[in-house]
Parts: sequence; structure tokens; C-alpha cells
Amino acid sequence: MAQKWDVIIVGGGLAGYVAANYLRQTNLSILLLEKGKHVGGRARTNKMNQQYFNLGPHALYKRGKARSILEELGIHLNGKSPKLGGILMENNFEYAAPFSPLGVLTTGLLRTKERMEWIAVLLKVMRIDPQTLANQTFQQWVKQIAHSEVIESLLYTLGRLATYCHAPDKMSAKVMVTNLKNAMGGVLYLDGGWQTIIDQLHNLAILSGIQVRSHAPVKQIYPYEQKQFKLVLSNEEEMIGKYVISATGPQELNEMIGENFNIGQNGVFSRITPIKGATLDVALSRLPNPKRLFAMGITDPFYYSVHSHYAHLSDDTNHTILHVFKYLHPDEHIDKTNIKSELEQFLDKVQPGWKQYVVTSRLLPTITVNQRLPQIGDELKLQRSRTVIPGLYIAGDWASPDLILADGAASSGKHAAHEIILNETRKESANFK
Ligand SMILES: Cc1cc2nc3c(=O)[nH]c(=O)nc-3n(C[C@H](O)[C@H](O)[C@H](O)COP(=O)(O)OP(=O)(O)OC[C@H]3O[C@@H](n4cnc5c(N)ncnc54)[C@H](O)[C@@H]3O)c2cc1C
Repeated sequence: MAQKWDVIIVGGGLAGYVAANYLRQTNLSILLLEKGKHVGGRARTNKMNQQYFNLGPHALYKRGKARSILEELGIHLNGKSPKLGGILMENNFEYAAPFSPLGVLTTGLLRTKERMEWIAVLLKVMRIDPQTLANQTFQQWVKQIAHSEVIESLLYTLGRLATYCHAPDKMSAKVMVTNLKNAMGGVLYLDGGWQTIIDQLHNLAILSGIQVRSHAPVKQIYPYEQKQFKLVLSNEEEMIGKYVISATGPQELNEMIGENFNIGQNGVFSRITPIKGATLDVALSRLPNPKRLFAMGITDPFYYSVHSHYAHLSDDTNHTILHVFKYLHPDEHIDKTNIKSELEQFLDKVQPGWKQYVVTSRLLPTITVNQRLPQIGDELKLQRSRTVIPGLYIAGDWASPDLILADGAASSGKHAAHEIILNETRKESANFK
């Protein structure tokens, strides 16, 4: 006999766990299924020797939805905010990054007129209502507000930093500016890495009776009698759920529902393009130039930041944990060997001689940072975590119309849980009448 549950959540990443934790406040029976050996998805942190490596550089936006949702759920977020200083690099020249008041005033990158223009543009970003940009790409908007080339490039650089998206020609201006505004409020690097978020969410879920199963890949979801769902795992085990939250990626959702439902929507989610990047995560016994904590390329889409300067990320306090990252364009052909040397060459420029101090390092040559590169009109497909299949909800960093990354994952997880709670409350009051 297949076991029955009120809610089955498929996917044990941030979105799935946030949904589970809102639902723990109800008396619904809840099962969370994760295909991997470990839970946490892309918010996992791997301990390598004594170092805590997030999957690439992870920064929690202080003004973002993820932070407020996690705090609402009682999650402690310990860490520090990096300073907004650092350098920008262009053709072997280095400039102070004009991302802080001091940087704006002192950078050699801008002439007086451009400095004034940059200040005006930053003020515009702070004041603008992103909803007014619904029909423009980020590139179209940048061309409208920037008069000089250097200001255009700076906006693209800041945009990459805020969203990891290196496709201004495709990215929705509304979503980009929403996330830029959040990023301008600063970020937190977390002590112990993002695993600390997952561990707390997991423990709270378990304590309230939620069942979590790892090594449990869902193969198919079918309609089942009386508006329920039958889930089949890869080992052919079956389970029945009244509600399902798919907290996987869009492709995985498509594979699970296949042609099993008589709907015209099949395939809609498969046309979603992800935001990808390449990351080199490095632990050094010594930082050759201890003052160099942050750098980005202006034309070359690279990032470097020393996360352990602000967060506890190694059991050996002398070790330095840094990330070098390349933002990938969706149409870019990825040559894994080439990417490694590109990342290393960028690090050579920022920290010459770093190789002699390597304790451990890890290359992830092509990783999905966000499951959806937000494009104009996406919101029409993504209405409040619902799908056209009643009782099937979506959550994940791709499933929120205006937000991406952890903010999109957490807010869609919350929405999906709320939709179910709302539905149950409606049913109860209808029964009562
Ligand atoms: C290099 C990098 C840097 C990043 N930096 C930042 C940052 O600075 N700030 C920020 O806010 N965000 C950042 N992110 C993004 C953030 O990590 C993700 O947006 C977030 O963790 C996504 O959570 P999720 O739950 O939506 O998806 P995931 O974490 O991918 O979780 C989905 C889970 O579903 C499971 N699953 C899939 N299919 C099935 C199935 N059939 N059955 C069962 N389980 C299944 C997967 O194994 C996975 O565990 C970064 C990501 C990367 C990769």
C-alpha cells in the first residue's frame, strides 16, 4: 500500500525547506523528498579538509526577501558584511571601484563629468519603481539612462555583481533593477557557510514531525483519484499526496509530469534558460596581498572576493578562503580547460604568487547559479507559485516572478506553503458552513 501524505515536497534545497518550515505550523502530514545523498541543493557547503566551501561565492542580500523570511522562521544568520571597496580591472589597469561613496570620489576610472553622471544614475536606481521597466531589457534601459560608455559598463558590472547574469540583452530590466536595489543594501557572508541555514531549517522541520528522505529521486508524478497525486520514485516505490510542491528545477518538473496530465502546459517550463557561471574556490595558507579583498573585471566578466576576511570559513584561522568566478553568457561555449586557466589568470592579476600558498581548491566549471534567466513577460507563466494543475505548486529560484537567487527560492517556497494553507482554510470554513 502506498503511504499517504497531505503534502509531499520534492526537492530539499532552500525553497523546499522554506516551504516545509511554513507548513510545520499546520497539522498537515508532510514528506520532503531529496534525490541527492545530502540535502541543501545549491545552498550546501562542503567541508574540504578544514575549509568550508560554499558552492561558489554566496552572499545573502541584507535587504532581500530570503533574509527576512529566514529570520521570520527563526533562523540565525551569523556573519559580517564585506566593505563596498575593492578594485575594478580593465586592460591591466586597476581603478578603485566606485561602489562606495569613497570609491565614487576617488576612482581614476571616471572624469568629473562621468563622476556626476554615475552619482545621478545611482540615485535613479535607488528611486525608480522597477515595475515601470516591465517591457524593457536591462540593455535597453541602460542605453536610455547612461550617456557615456564607461557608465554603461559600470551598470553592467554592478548588474552582474547583483544577479550573476551576464546577458543584459536578454535580462528583464524590471528584475535586474529589483535585485540591484536589494544588492545596494549590502550583503552578509555567513560563518560556516550557507549549510548553516539548511541545517537549521532541517532541524526545525524534523523536530516538528516532518519526514525528510534523501536518496529519493522522484521519477514521475501522476494524477490520482479524488484530486490527489501519485509519486513514483526511481526504485518504483509509490506514495500518494493531496498536495505536491515541486521545489526542483523547471526541467526536472517537466520530466516528472511528462505527459501524465491532460494539460496544454507541458513543455512551457523547458524553455527556461538558466544563469550559469564557473567558480574556483580556493583556500590559501597566506594571502600574498592581504589588502586585496575584492575585484571585478569591467569588460571581462570576472569576480574575486575574500570571503573569510568577513566570515568564519576555516577551522584554521590563518587560512584564507576566496572565490574567483566567471559570469557566463547563456550562448557561450564552455571549454572546461580554458575556463580553469582564465580563472587562474584573473587570480594571478589580483594576487600574484597565490599558487605557492594553495591549501586546497575546487573548480566547478559550469554551475547553474539561478534556474531562470528572467526575461520580459516571464511573470505571465509564474502566478503565485500555482500551476495549471490544481494542488501542484512550484517553488525554487526560478519560480518567483520578480526575484531570483535565494530571494526567489525563499519567497516562492513561502508562497507555495501559503497557497496550501489558504486552500485548507477555505475548505474548513466551507465544511463549517
Ligand atoms: C556559484 C553560485 C553562487 C551563488 N551565489 C548566490 C548569492 O550570492 N546570493 C544568493 O542569493 N544566491 C546565490 N546563489 C543561488 C542560490 O544558491 C540558489 O538560488 C538557491 O540555493 C536555490 O535553491 P532552490 O531550492 O531553488 O534550488 P536547489 O538548491 O537546486 O534545490 C533543488 C533540489 O531539488 C532536488 N531535486 C531535483 N530533482 C529532484 C527529483 N526528481 N526528486 C527529488 N529531488 C530532486 C535537487 O537535488 C536539489 O537538492 C548562488 C548559486 C551558485 C551556484
